[in-house]
Amino acid sequence: MNFKDFPVQALMDITSRPELVFVKGAGSWLWDHNGKKYLDFVQGWAVNSLGHSPKCIVEALVAQAPKLITPSPAFYNEPSIRLANLLTAHSCFDRVFFTNSGAEANEGAIKLARKWGKKNKGGAFEIITTINSFHGRTIATMSASGKPGWDVMFAPQVPGFPKAQFNDLASVEALVTDKTVAVMLEPVQGEGGVNCATPEFMTGLRALCDKHKLLLICDEVQTGMGRLGTLFGYQHYGVQPDVMTLGKGIGGGVPLAALLARAEVSVFEHGDQGGTYNGNPLMAAVGVAVIEEMIKPGFLDHVKAMGTYLSEQLTKASGELGLGAERGIGLLRALELEDDIGAKVVNYARDNLATASGWTGTGLLLNSPRPALLRFMPALNLSKAEIDLMIDGLRKTIAGVRT
Ligand SMILES: *Cc1c(COP(=O)(O)O)cnc(C)c1O
Repeated sequence: MNFKDFPVQALMDITSRPELVFVKGAGSWLWDHNGKKYLDFVQGWAVNSLGHSPKCIVEALVAQAPKLITPSPAFYNEPSIRLANLLTAHSCFDRVFFTNSGAEANEGAIKLARKWGKKNKGGAFEIITTINSFHGRTIATMSASGKPGWDVMFAPQVPGFPKAQFNDLASVEALVTDKTVAVMLEPVQGEGGVNCATPEFMTGLRALCDKHKLLLICDEVQTGMGRLGTLFGYQHYGVQPDVMTLGKGIGGGVPLAALLARAEVSVFEHGDQGGTYNGNPLMAAVGVAVIEEMIKPGFLDHVKAMGTYLSEQLTKASGELGLGAERGIGLLRALELEDDIGAKVVNYARDNLATASGWTGTGLLLNSPRPALLRFMPALNLSKAEIDLMIDGLRKTIAGVRT
């Protein structure tokens, strides 16, 4: 089938997409409607933590679907109980509320903090967030996000989200008033360009929150579920937040996200929070399969080892190609390009690499969240050989873009 035979106009045109329709995935590989295959270092935007269509997820869906898809969020179901217990057993949290997306989990975190402020801090409701942060695309989470331009996009915003500088403790403290209830941040700003919090910033924030009786909320939609080489990003820093949100990797590709809190902070009362699909057993069964894979001995060691290897190889290639600095934690990494060639690199790797030696019929999927930056968010269980192949593709792409 030709691309023009797909009636894509029926879809709202919300972003520019390449004229490709993806039909199949396996591990680190994707196939389009022409049968061309791609080495995938985007993985659904850091979503497919175990790669495309891993056996454990397929089996979980096949086992759960004929049993029970959804009884109603007003009834208990087994997979959601199991997943909640796995999450609390492996984290510093006691209670879980499941959602369908990261934005919805963050909305829940905002509601929980405001409720907690009402009960414990005389109605304090302001949540300090950071410049260049990304918390989602609902009106409230866009208001919480520090993405340039988003303050006016769908004005008026939801009030109550003063913005501090990331990695600048004094700028956070300067915003604290008697209206402040929480500080919310990503341990590593993902969409903002893989900006890692310094250890001093994270420990400083914890102390600042304790001093002013504020909640520390970690948006771990991108950094959670093994991405940084620890099950949750806060564990990398050795700092315990009061509230955490998960998304992306927890579902390994299906819509599943979660809001977690310590018992004292879990102040929702009946009627405060809910949702039609929240905690449905079909998605929760997938979440169980994903976390069970990640807590197996050696899984997180592999993520750490591959993160170190990817970092070394990017640094080496960058030195030889005259590109910029490499950064990141675990398998969330970025490379500075020096020039604004990010979009060209992404397009070339996808469409033109197939003419390079060793790449016949094959493309490479990369991501450029900023004009002069590449971000790497591969499957956590990828192999060293797949990293080597990506580096080879990157070298040939840079050469191709420069000619
Ligand atoms: C992707 C992302 C979100 C939004 O998640 P959705 O599932 O797209 O709503 C929120 N926070 C962070 C840090 C993210 O990376």
